[in-house]
Amino acid sequence: MESKDNFQETTFRDRPSTFGKDGKRVWLFPKMPKGNLYNIRRIIAWTLLTFFYLAPFLKINGDPLIFLNFLQRKFVLFGTTFYPQDFHLLVLAIITLVVFIVLFTVIYGRIFCGWVCPQTVFLEFLYRPIEYLIDGNAEKQKELAEQEADAIKILKRILKHGIFLLISFFTILTFISYVTGTEKLGEIMDGWPLQRSGLLMGALVFTGIHYFVFAWFREQVCTIVCPYGRLQGVMLDVNTILVAYDYKRGEPRRNAENRRSEHGDCINCYSCVAVCPTGIDIRNGTQLECINCTACIDACNSVMKKVKKPNGLIRFASEKSISEGKSIKFNARVIAYSSVLIALLIVMTYLFTVRGDVETSVNRSPGTMFQEYGADKYSNLYNLQMVNKTNSTVSIELKLLSPEGEILLMGDPLKVEKGEVAKRNLLIVLKKENVKSSNSHLEIGIFENGKMIDKITTTFVGPNELDEKQ
Ligand code: SF4
Ligand code: SF4
Repeated sequence: MESKDNFQETTFRDRPSTFGKDGKRVWLFPKMPKGNLYNIRRIIAWTLLTFFYLAPFLKINGDPLIFLNFLQRKFVLFGTTFYPQDFHLLVLAIITLVVFIVLFTVIYGRIFCGWVCPQTVFLEFLYRPIEYLIDGNAEKQKELAEQEADAIKILKRILKHGIFLLISFFTILTFISYVTGTEKLGEIMDGWPLQRSGLLMGALVFTGIHYFVFAWFREQVCTIVCPYGRLQGVMLDVNTILVAYDYKRGEPRRNAENRRSEHGDCINCYSCVAVCPTGIDIRNGTQLECINCTACIDACNSVMKKVKKPNGLIRFASEKSISEGKSIKFNARVIAYSSVLIALLIVMTYLFTVRGDVETSVNRSPGTMFQEYGADKYSNLYNLQMVNKTNSTVSIELKLLSPEGEILLMGDPLKVEKGEVAKRNLLIVLKKENVKSSNSHLEIGIFENGKMIDKITTTFVGPNELDEKQ
């Protein structure tokens, strides 16, 4: 068995902290962090968890706060309904998100992972606290894991894993309710286990995966699976602000030889390592496994308080600021990247807010030409498609804005139910004197309750001879 010092100081370049020399998993028993940053993280995590579990039950205008119905291709986000016609917004949102993540990571490191990533939030603020409650603190957990199975150990294991399974099942049901809605999920569950047993099996399989990730796989997701974690190496540089150890101040760390002589501020207490959920020693420098959770900052600050030294031996800093012994400066690059991030957010917000509630298209019926309509008029036949993206029925009227003419809608007045797509045919009739070329430009106003809500354009086909006369 490797000594702690040996393992931490010589092997971090060769293998992840959770792999032993023999390649087997080294199980971690991180101490529960305590401190200001942990308190803030706990508030954020509990806000996110509460939102996640409650959102399917909260409604705006009869629709859930978030509803992701992939089967009906209907998506509701905070009262706004999105349909396949809004696909361009989804693409834009994804591009914005990717650019945002890259720029944000270049400037501020992997802070997302330690503070808001679902993996960390579920593990550190839901599953791990239950483990502390049942198995005790980190030392007791280690003892329990190493001891022979007795009645107490078996009881604790059954209780802990039973609760983990229940939470996993409930979490998967919550995920499903984001897709089906809570009412529909209630109907589905009514028939369990005899009816719709396929869905029950699906839910149980996902429960098993969720349980496996949080009860067993844990930090391995962040250290060996997560692609975002793997990309850190190319996104970080010496100016990136991240959780870092101030080696200028901390080294040489206290050890048996320099105990009574001059040494840096690090007293080599390993408190920062003991709380690390990925099992690394941040004093070895920035590592791929670091999720920027700041637990080591809290741990080290409490040690610094005890030894009467200033806080911040481990802190948010860039490699450059530490090597130059200066505080972080918001240089031109940070300001430029931050400005791009803000601009992206503004553009996205604008696009989402100006999105029309009713989307209309009027296109000439394929293969049709102009027709004589009485002695002095021409007509064209069109296909109308209208998508109602609001949460209520809309009554729509179409008026020709230019040139002067008539729109003759076929069928009943145009009433579109919420979320429905209406398709109709219509004729546009223009006086011959108003048709100036073989391809004229038309402007159509879309009116709801007498108010124009949109303006669209289309073309009107007339005789070719009109072009020759011009
Ligand atoms: S907690 Fe602080 S003092 Fe203790 S080992 Fe870590 S860096 Fe050094
Ligand atoms: S090194 Fe510190 S910030 Fe990084 S994962 Fe470990 S405890 Fe969290």
